[in-house]
Amino acid sequence: MGVFDRVVAMTLPLVPKPVVRRVASPYIAGEAVDDLVRIAEDLNRGGYRVAAAILGEFVTRREESEEAVRDYQALLARMGERRIDGYIHVKPTHLGLKLDVSFCLENIRSLLVAARAQGLFVRLDMEDSPCIDDTLHIYHRLRPDFDNVGVVIQSRMRRSLADVRELAKVKANVRVCKGIYIEPYSIAYTDPELISRNYSLLVEELLGAGCPVAIATHDERLVWEAARTIERLQVPHDRYEFQMLLGVLAPLRALIKGAGHPVRVAVPYGPNWYPYSVRRLRKNPAIARYVLKSLLKR
Ligand SMILES: Cc1cc2nc3c(=O)[nH]c(=O)nc-3n(C[C@H](O)[C@H](O)[C@H](O)COP(=O)(O)OP(=O)(O)OC[C@H]3O[C@@H](n4cnc5c(N)ncnc54)[C@H](O)[C@@H]3O)c2cc1C
Repeated sequence: MGVFDRVVAMTLPLVPKPVVRRVASPYIAGEAVDDLVRIAEDLNRGGYRVAAAILGEFVTRREESEEAVRDYQALLARMGERRIDGYIHVKPTHLGLKLDVSFCLENIRSLLVAARAQGLFVRLDMEDSPCIDDTLHIYHRLRPDFDNVGVVIQSRMRRSLADVRELAKVKANVRVCKGIYIEPYSIAYTDPELISRNYSLLVEELLGAGCPVAIATHDERLVWEAARTIERLQVPHDRYEFQMLLGVLAPLRALIKGAGHPVRVAVPYGPNWYPYSVRRLRKNPAIARYVLKSLLKR
């Protein structure tokens, strides 16, 4: 992170919540399931698939996870009823990973059963490094019973190639991303070039092993590198897709779709928008203007 970005990151917690909400609005569908449905249908009409998520993470009470399960079940029913071309992705810590791994596993199992009834898929997001072992454990426990489950690998983590080789053995459906969490040097690459090189390596390893792969990045170089790998390995359309976040580089996503590749847009929604918004805004130096303006107004 450059000095300028670091200053922005440090000042964000001082920015009034309504300002954060306004600036973050392009990244979030809204607070209610109807908002998600509206945006998802719009994206589907534009030729994009959707990955829907209810915002929430690191819950501290079981009731919060139970509520998240109920909300996701209602969302799955709604997506099925509206025939949305999409799936859901969930944060394990929203479903109780930090409270009790077995509790979290059973919550995810119940979502997989509900999703399967609608012909839908569920991806487990990957959170910070203390969550990786437990998330992969849950994935490997559920994989034998479910075809509609996927997971995420982060190219910044030094362990990821080894994890990918284990996942390839069970033909896992894997989303590859750089990883949003800042991790220590001892376990993570910190050089952006190394993170990118590892990204392309992981994508190639998974595609070469016959796994379905979701290439989640806005880094244009990585997009076209992956496209070349796909062409070279002659990977069929039903075994890969590109993924981007709502509100980020829409022109790039149009170019990828225009080049004939399947593209999915991740669409978060829900009342717990604050931590997600702050993380997204930290990635976007263009918000500095809003941050400074709002601080000067105080
Ligand atoms: C669909 C999807 C799912 C993801 N799931 C996970 C997950 O489960 N676990 C996890 O740790 N991370 C996840 N991420 C986040 C990911 O790890 C990266 O932090 C994030 O995508 C930025 O990395 P990048 O590959 O886009 O490359 P970067 O080099 O960070 O970004 C490339 C370019 O994209 C643009 N850009 C990126 N972010 C923004 C932004 N917020 N606003 C404006 N422009 C931006 C900038 O122009 C930047 O130069 C996911 C990302 C996507 C797209």
